[in-house]
Amino acid sequence: MATADGFGSQRVHKDADRADLYGGPNVVIPPSHLMASSHDRNLSSSKMSNQHIEEEVVSSEEESPQVDTPSSTPPVVTSDDFALAFDIDGVFVKGGEPIPEAVEAMKYINGENPYGIKVPYIFLTNGGGKTEEERCRDLSRQLEYEVDPGQFICGHTPMREMAEHYGTVLVVGGEGEKCRIVAEGYGFKDVITPGDIIKTQHDATPFRKLTDEEYKNSRELDLEKVRIEAVFVFADSRDWAGDQQIILDVLMTQHGQLNTRSETFDEGPPVYFSHNDVLWSTSHEHSRIGMGALRASLEALYKAVTGGKELKTVAFGKPQMGTFAFATRLLQEWRSETCGIDKPPATVYFFGDTPESDIRGTNEFNRSSEIEWYSVLVATGVWQEGTIPRFPPRKICKNIFEGVKFAIDREAQKLRGRGASFSMFTDDIKSIQLNK
Ligand SMILES: [Mg+2]
Repeated sequence: MATADGFGSQRVHKDADRADLYGGPNVVIPPSHLMASSHDRNLSSSKMSNQHIEEEVVSSEEESPQVDTPSSTPPVVTSDDFALAFDIDGVFVKGGEPIPEAVEAMKYINGENPYGIKVPYIFLTNGGGKTEEERCRDLSRQLEYEVDPGQFICGHTPMREMAEHYGTVLVVGGEGEKCRIVAEGYGFKDVITPGDIIKTQHDATPFRKLTDEEYKNSRELDLEKVRIEAVFVFADSRDWAGDQQIILDVLMTQHGQLNTRSETFDEGPPVYFSHNDVLWSTSHEHSRIGMGALRASLEALYKAVTGGKELKTVAFGKPQMGTFAFATRLLQEWRSETCGIDKPPATVYFFGDTPESDIRGTNEFNRSSEIEWYSVLVATGVWQEGTIPRFPPRKICKNIFEGVKFAIDREAQKLRGRGASFSMFTDDIKSIQLNK
C-alpha cells in the first residue's frame, strides 16, 4: 500500500496546505522496469549510444559536454548541465493537433538553434487511456520527431507498480477495451471493467446499454466469486453516470465482494485515479472538465448515498511529489542511456499550461530537490493570459517555442557569467575539423 515517506533522499517539507502532494502512491521501481521495453526502443537506444561513442572521440576537453559527430553542418553539442521536461496537452498538442509552434520548438531543442546545442528531454503528461507505445507513436507523428517510451510518463504509468499488490481489480475509463489492455500489459492478473458488470447484471445501470461491440468484448462474471481488491480510474470516463454507479456499488460492498452490501460503508476497496486535473485544454475555447472533476463528484456522491461517510481516494500524476521523483529518475536514465551522461543536471525546466498541477508540482518539488526544478507556464492551454495563476511560475511564456528559447538563453547567460559559452565547444570542433 502507498505511503508518503518514500521519496528516496528527498527532504520532505510540508505543511497543512501542501500535505496532499505527499499522500500519493510511493513509486519505487526504477523507470527501466516500469517502462515497456519495446523492440523499437532498444533499437533507438543502441543507435543513439553508438552515436555518443563517436561523439566522445572528438571531444577534447575533459569537462566538455558531449559533441555530435562532426559533419559539414554546424556541430551540435548535447548539453549535460540542464534538461527539459514537458507537459503535452495545452503545451504541444491541443484537441489532438499540434499547436502551431510545436514542431519549431522540437527542432530548436534538437540542435536547430543559434548555439548549436541539443538538450535532453522527457514528457510528463497526466493524460492516458492508451499504451505508452501507442501514445508515443501518436506524439512522434504530431511533433515530427521520434518520441520513445523511455522518455515518456503518462498518468497511469506509475500504476504498473500496483499490479503485484492486487489480484482482481476494476479498471475504469478510456475507449472500449483499451484500458483493460493497458492494465493487463502492466501485469494486473484479473482486470474487470464496468462493461463486464453491466453484461452480467443488465439493470446495474438503468440508462446505459452496451453496444454490440462492447457486449462482445465484455466478460460475464460469477458474482458469487468476484472480490474486487482495488478500483483504478485509468483514463477519463466516457459515461460518468454508469461508471460512478458501478464504482459506488463496489465501494459499498463488504471488502469488494460484488454480491454483498456493507452495513457500515467503510470496508470497500481503495480507489486510485491516474491524476487529479479538474480541467484540461481541448480545441474548445474554454477548458473542459476532466478526471479531477469525476473524483470530486464521486467523493460527494459517496457521502450523499452513505449518509455522510467520507471517501478517501488517491491520485497519481502531477502535482504529486511521487510523480516528480519518478520523472527525475526517468530523466536520469534517459540521459545516461541515450547521451552517456551520468551526472544529474543542475537544472530541469518544466513547461506546463496548468498552474494547479504543472506549476504547483514543479515549485513544490524544487523546494526539496537537489536539482533546480524551474517552472515555466505557457499561455496555450488551461491558463489564460491576463489572469493571475493560482500557483505562480518562475517564468511565463506565450508558447512552447518562446519557452524553450528562454531556457536555452538563460543557460547561455549562466555560462557567460562563468566566462564560458556553448560556442566554445562548437569552436573546438571546428578547429579539429579545420586541422584535419
Ligand atoms: Mg496540460
